[in-house]
Amino acid sequence: MKVLVAVKRVIDYNVKVRVKPDNSDVDLANVKMALNPFCEIAVEEAVRLKESGAASEVVVVSIGPKACQEQIRTALALGADRGIQIETEELPESLSVAKLLAKVVEAEQPGLVILGKQSIDADNNQTGQMLGALLNRPQGTFASEVKIDGDSVNVTREVDGGLQTLNLKLPAIVTTDLRLNEPRYAKLPDIMKAKRKPLDVKTPADLGVDLKNHTRLLKVSAPAERQAGIRVASVDELIDKLKNEAKVL
Ligand code: AMP
Repeated sequence: MKVLVAVKRVIDYNVKVRVKPDNSDVDLANVKMALNPFCEIAVEEAVRLKESGAASEVVVVSIGPKACQEQIRTALALGADRGIQIETEELPESLSVAKLLAKVVEAEQPGLVILGKQSIDADNNQTGQMLGALLNRPQGTFASEVKIDGDSVNVTREVDGGLQTLNLKLPAIVTTDLRLNEPRYAKLPDIMKAKRKPLDVKTPADLGVDLKNHTRLLKVSAPAERQAGIRVASVDELIDKLKNEAKVL
């Protein structure tokens, strides 16, 4: 069984995000970028499926500018076999990403597609669901356990108040939650080896997809600055301030 993993290049989660002075977007100039953490979990799960013998090949796909090849190489260093970049100048909106992924799925025919549950830059949490709808395939979102069982997969999902286990007929789509696994670190020899693994570059036109935006980003604003705290001398003073200044008592 082939496993296809969708990986996104996002701002590194350790970076303090800055907004452009004109509020038009997040400022990405000279900012460290990385593999979206939920996509890293998706790659790890696919590699584990291969190591256990349940999968035969792991293909990673990323949509975005040339720089996203860096994240494809990271996934290859973590154990994926080959990569596909779909070159676009800007990151397209989720529906376009899902349409492009659907075309890759049609061409590659994977038994399982694994995506992150959400990208930490835009927090969309919708690409996997859109892909499931476009392909009319069963989907298990927010997975905390994935077990292949013959021609189906059992997916345990993190839902409000507990866990839900679904049996999905393959081919299926899974999106990863945080507790699915703990991704490994790439070792130096694997990083070197990854440079020689195949990486195919395609364009949306090659896949017959016309990128059209249905949404427009109007404004991005930073959260309000937190006021500095003060030290009070006694409990009485604290109660007085909470009552008369903060007016929360
Ligand atoms: P989102 O719906 O944007 O929160 O993203 C959910 C998941 O969809 C991500 O974790 C990726 O697996 C996949 N995805 C989103 N955008 C891209 C992209 N540009 N390239 C590849 N995969 C993507």
